[in-house]
Amino acid sequence: MARLTHWATSLLLFAAIILLPAGRCLASARSGFVFFEGTQYPLGVVFIQGEAPGPTVMIQGGIQGDEPTGFLSAQILAESRVLKGNLIVVPRANVPSIHAHQRSVNVDMNRRFDRDYNQFYEDRLARVVRFLLSQSSAFIHLHEGSGFYDPEYVSPLRNPSRWGQSIIIDANTHERLDLARLVNSALVEINGGVKEQDLKFKLFNTRTFEPDSQYAKEMRKSLTFYALANLNIPAMAVEVSKNIGELGWKVKHQVYATSVLLKHCGVEIVPPHVDASEIQRLHERDHRVKINGKPLDGQALAVPPGGTLKVDPGSAGKDAHGQVVAVFASDRQGVNLVDTPRMALERFQELETRVDGRKVSTTTVRFAGEMPPPLPDGPPVFVCWLNGKAVQVKHGGVLKAVVGDQLLIDGVLGSKWKEVLNFKGYAARPWSNDGQDMGYEIILDPESFIDRYRLPGPDKDTARYQVTRETAGARPASFFVDVEPRHVQGLKLVDAKGQHVNVRWGSGGEVALAPGEYSVIDVLSNGPVNRLLPVLGNRPLKTGEKFRVESGKPQMLTLRQATTFAGLGAMTLVTAGAHGSAEKDHDRSTARPTAKPEGKSEFRAEVKADAKPDAKPDAKSDAKSVAKSVAKSKAKPVVKTAAKAKPQAKPAAKPLAKADAKPDSKSDAKAKAKPVAKAKDNLKPAAKPLAKADHKSSDAKADAKPDAKLAAKPLATAKRLSANPDRPDHF
Ligand SMILES: [Zn+2]
Repeated sequence: MARLTHWATSLLLFAAIILLPAGRCLASARSGFVFFEGTQYPLGVVFIQGEAPGPTVMIQGGIQGDEPTGFLSAQILAESRVLKGNLIVVPRANVPSIHAHQRSVNVDMNRRFDRDYNQFYEDRLARVVRFLLSQSSAFIHLHEGSGFYDPEYVSPLRNPSRWGQSIIIDANTHERLDLARLVNSALVEINGGVKEQDLKFKLFNTRTFEPDSQYAKEMRKSLTFYALANLNIPAMAVEVSKNIGELGWKVKHQVYATSVLLKHCGVEIVPPHVDASEIQRLHERDHRVKINGKPLDGQALAVPPGGTLKVDPGSAGKDAHGQVVAVFASDRQGVNLVDTPRMALERFQELETRVDGRKVSTTTVRFAGEMPPPLPDGPPVFVCWLNGKAVQVKHGGVLKAVVGDQLLIDGVLGSKWKEVLNFKGYAARPWSNDGQDMGYEIILDPESFIDRYRLPGPDKDTARYQVTRETAGARPASFFVDVEPRHVQGLKLVDAKGQHVNVRWGSGGEVALAPGEYSVIDVLSNGPVNRLLPVLGNRPLKTGEKFRVESGKPQMLTLRQATTFAGLGAMTLVTAGAHGSAEKDHDRSTARPTAKPEGKSEFRAEVKADAKPDAKPDAKSDAKSVAKSVAKSKAKPVVKTAAKAKPQAKPAAKPLAKADAKPDSKSDAKAKAKPVAKAKDNLKPAAKPLAKADHKSSDAKADAKPDAKLAAKPLATAKRLSANPDRPDHF
């Protein structure tokens, strides 16, 4: 939540920065959202709705953590003034790899787009990236590659197998797109800004569709190819060279090249002016990280044995586009304490602070006092964190959890050993085989665990897993984790007058509301509300964020798991009709039967008759009334169907200004473009899908499931799970 608050602050700042110099400029709306907030893999996204309508283009950096130019360029581009069209900017697509300053952590994320994988955090990020891309009519990927691409062999550093200083496309033409023409005309302008002859950018066509292309196998798993082949939108990568030493030069030219490409895609921006030395300073800026209120400044830090470590990351890492901060304890490499709680149950040497993967300080840790003694005689007690709350589980005990929960096994109370605790069915570090899962974030998603370790639970829907103590020399012990499916019963909304409106959740149904402004204030469900993410049309809703329901504009409300982005179903919000008004006639606001097969009359909006403008929600009675109505309508498959719904299946997740993708049909683009980042009062995504489908190629029908479709395509044979962390240094 702290992050969201800071977000609001930075949004205001942004608004001020953008609006002041622009003076009379029409609302250029900027908003940010952090997906997977509170996990080890937060994904910040900036949406900018331009001053004039135009297509929506997505820009992404940081998919591979050892390419800082890409994420710094994207960060700067996220602060652009957008004159025409809209931007979706993902500055740091793969935060854990940036912290590690490595190309990849589990797998190369840019090889995870040939199908819908569900194994690693990278796959969850890829889900959101596909979701964002489906709203875009072109895609620009920012990279940093080795050497200098040249179609002729010139030298070991300058030849056809190098990647730097190129604009990469997967095909010269595809369907009705003439990518080579687009890039070539942009290159004239881009290279006009490059004084050095040997640093000019070149067009690099990897011919990914052609079986004889040496790049085909790898590139068919990449994001640009996914965008081109599956969404039929222009996609290109701007690749600067790792062999250019000056970061500032690279960022400046990558920002410029991207703004020129954007123009050729119908989006006009004015990036902020940043000179090379400022960029270098931005990269090296220090940040004040505190642990338990004490600054990490290189001085030794006293840690109470068994105490909790609380990290305040300081000024960075608080918004959707800025630099990211990590604090690593020396015994748990890669586990960022900023997002993960920890108790000091075992001694460790030091803490390292990193900003965007660059080490800024190392702090020696001094344990002040003795570790708490082991419990006399009793069975071992395990210490875990479930969704950020500390819980203790005895040997033989059961920890109850829900799909999507975040679990961290922190250690054994009072242990004198170097513990090894193994969550059977999950591999924290798939490339090492030591069975150690202690200290790592485990997102409880049985679909991503190894099936043969699933044990029978208390009922057929609940999956049980065993956590065993495999510590050499220590007394064996274990406990169980029961993971039950997430069941959503209802949503609690509040309208503009403060009245509470309870909506029964039934995926596939419709819910009728009086026209007006609402926000979701709670979800009635068997798990914490902050592990659920409501998405209205294409827009993820923050807790309490307002949205409008207007007559004639049905909108799709999707519920997703906040930690995995998996779908929990969707409902259509419609208005209650000319005669129905929530204030006047509570009964009338109940939902009408829908035409959809699943709809029936099970779905209704219930308005609390006694609600007063300032009335505090009475959680219990609300829950009861919803529960009752669930029971009445024989609470059968509704919830289950919802839980099983495919995440990508929802028409609402469909592109906005897709049809305008054609860069050379500018007038087209003008006519059709729709903002993605909706300003609060012009929300109409759900009206979209219909209009949309007409304009789209058959490949991207509103009812298509991108993932299923993708899997069905005879693309590269996806090697399920190559645990090999690193791949050749390119794109
Ligand atoms: Zn790259």
